[in-house]
Amino acid sequence: MGIFEQMAERGHEQLVFSHDSESGLRSIIALHDTTLGSALGGCRMRDYPTEAEAVDDALALSWGMTAKSAITRTNHGGGKAVIWGDPKTDKTEILLRAFGRFVEGLHGRFLTGTDMGTTGEDFVVAGQETDWLVGLPEYAGGSGNTSVTTAHGVWHGIRAGASHLWGSDDLRGKTVAIQGVGKVGEYLAELLDEAGCELIVSDVDGEAVERVVTAHGARAVDPADIYDVECDVFSPCALGGVLNEDTIGRLRCQIIGGAANNQVTDPEIGHRLHEMGILYIPDYIINAGGLIQVADEVEGFNRERAMKKTEALYQLLLDCFARAEELSVTPFEAADRLVEERINILGAVSRIYLPRR
Ligand code: NAD
Repeated sequence: MGIFEQMAERGHEQLVFSHDSESGLRSIIALHDTTLGSALGGCRMRDYPTEAEAVDDALALSWGMTAKSAITRTNHGGGKAVIWGDPKTDKTEILLRAFGRFVEGLHGRFLTGTDMGTTGEDFVVAGQETDWLVGLPEYAGGSGNTSVTTAHGVWHGIRAGASHLWGSDDLRGKTVAIQGVGKVGEYLAELLDEAGCELIVSDVDGEAVERVVTAHGARAVDPADIYDVECDVFSPCALGGVLNEDTIGRLRCQIIGGAANNQVTDPEIGHRLHEMGILYIPDYIINAGGLIQVADEVEGFNRERAMKKTEALYQLLLDCFARAEELSVTPFEAADRLVEERINILGAVSRIYLPRR
């Protein structure tokens, strides 16, 4: 499929390819929809096998950001940047500053910050060239690491799922299998342990697993075996695309709720999970805590307010499950409809002319 066809398929507004021969920067900024405000989304740096995969990631992730911003009412649109390169070997000051200049050139149509392969420190460097950044470290005037807020959102989301499915959000005695105990997964493990859950964890990083086993008495399994474990909740907190043809038949859980973006790449998989009686909590709602934090930073950061807004994901999910039942659709379809409705309603308001100040 050609690039314009791909943009038309998901309704993308703009795709910005930037290149700097000095630093070797190759970046793609995808702006999906700015009806609700400036596009907000992280910058991922990854050594994609092909250019097409870099484009596809930017398009898919920016679509997800529109949905996440709309449903959490943060008054932003959706965007995402990808830098095509190896974060371990290709990241230099010149590359980051060149990227900052290209972001600056969009004059606030796009605000960005950390994602996989980039850190808050990288944006302190890029920040010498642009003001349109979020998620900066606290010493640089930002709101700092978003993973604690994201983990809190996932925790409230799992409780909402439990309340909907089991009639109580008390997770005591429930078994939760966490795939990936990195920044979000490790903190989520702490919250679940405090709530009296049994934990099963997997990670390709042996040290990360060891920390959670020691601190929270988790049982470790091989990364390849996490789909087969008997559990109440499966929490994908590592990679996207993990719910697919090869994995869903192996799952032995009742709820799926985790931090990873785009856990399901094909909507058909979402239907199959629904038919299997598994409650799949829409990823772009349950993992919205980080977005809520950085959107709050744009307003002038207040951690208490950001946490309160993140707690509200619990009620948002209950409303979404109720809507799904009312319409006889999956929770994911109900969430997509809520997104569409909000964009249409607020898009209509912007038809009212306001003179420039
Ligand atoms: P992270 O890089 O700190 O942690 C990811 C962990 O997954 C790492 O420990 C890594 O070793 C592990 N991992 C990689 N491949 C694996 C595999 N095949 N099996 C098991 N473990 C594997 O990232 P994070 O910040 O904890 O984010 C986790 C996920 O949540 C990512 O997909 C991220 O995009 C998403 N997310 C994060 C935030 C946030 O605020 N950090 C917000 C929204 C979404």
